[in-house]
Amino acid sequence: MPKNIVVIGAGVAGLTTALLLSKRPGYKIHVAAKHMPGDYDIEYASPWAGANYMPVSISGTPAAKWDSNTWGPLADLAQNHPEAGFHFQECEIHSRAKDIGSATATWFAELLSSNPWFAKVVPNFRSLPKESLGPGIDSATSFTSVCINTAIYLPWLASQCLANGVTFKRATFEHIRDATAPGAHPSGKVDLVVNCTGLMASKLGGVEDETVVPARGQIVIVRNEAGKMLDVSGTDDGDNEACYVMTRAAGGGTILGGSYQKGNWESQPDPSLAVRIMKRAVAMCPSLTDGKGIEHLDIIRHGVGLRPVREGGTRIERETIGNVRVVHNYGAGGAGYQSSYGCAQDAVDLIEEVFEPRSRL
Ligand code: FAD
Repeated sequence: MPKNIVVIGAGVAGLTTALLLSKRPGYKIHVAAKHMPGDYDIEYASPWAGANYMPVSISGTPAAKWDSNTWGPLADLAQNHPEAGFHFQECEIHSRAKDIGSATATWFAELLSSNPWFAKVVPNFRSLPKESLGPGIDSATSFTSVCINTAIYLPWLASQCLANGVTFKRATFEHIRDATAPGAHPSGKVDLVVNCTGLMASKLGGVEDETVVPARGQIVIVRNEAGKMLDVSGTDDGDNEACYVMTRAAGGGTILGGSYQKGNWESQPDPSLAVRIMKRAVAMCPSLTDGKGIEHLDIIRHGVGLRPVREGGTRIERETIGNVRVVHNYGAGGAGYQSSYGCAQDAVDLIEEVFEPRSRL
């Protein structure tokens, strides 16, 4: 008998988990979520992401394993599936000695290293010669990464799921057990719930994980092109602000970021932060405006997304809540895309363990 699975959440975590599970036999998968691809909402992080592959995970941790296991699938999408909205792009990481010890530089420690674990994973990793660096930059590395047009990729993931027989429905759950109520799954009684609720795992009844908090990211999306992705170890405008630039695939515009404001739930763009973001971006990447000022940026929109940061990292775990069997996959922080396949694969393995524990001995 096929097992009836409800996946709560249609962000990158829920969709990737549903897609990988749909490739295994024996499951009828139903994705139920308050927000779906196409929506823009403060409770839905996935559309706001850049998104690129720029690991900050520390060598030897589960997070580094998830990131490492995700590079292959993302590179395959960029290489072989243009309809998914990926392209390869060179990525430069700039370090300023004065940022050492700051919140951003500490968060970025592995990324800023001249020999990070992912140097062996991504193509063309190298240190850049000092004489090629701009003013104020003390060292830099470069590698080939991918940049994802999330406005294409999220619907693509949903389409791949639909092609494999996954069903979708809008639903808002107060408590995780509501996902097993009569009628919650079109095929009948629910055998297991996959919790991919991101930041809202902090509010979902039965889960209410207080260790999940927002890290507010404000962005400006412009029509100007950057040519390559750039990121720097810090800014002169405060510890919780950041400076990065990436041009999305397939006409998705260029993302100028940003901020990393922990504990801040504000959904509206802050106009003065937007000006600082644009000024820093054109200073770091003059080719955006041919060396001219921010009035030469052609703005598509301002945006705010909340990264679902979890103390202790992403939660990929089995749990029984009341009498509901649950597998969690939430709390990816700023790494939801770059860890997506690694996390989803582990979540799928846990689901298989629930139903076939002996085959894994
Ligand atoms: P979400 O996308 O938030 O999805 C949660 C889903 O759960 C939604 O469908 C929601 O409706 C549903 N849901 C929640 N609660 C309920 C409920 N009670 N009932 C029903 N449905 C519910 N990551 C990268 O890898 N690379 C990047 O370059 C990158 N850049 C970023 C830049 C910014 C500005 C931001 C904000 C994030 C960035 N991220 C990046 C992080 C990435 O966006 C997140 O880690 C990822 O989107 C989290 O996905 P998710 O599926 O867990 O959560």
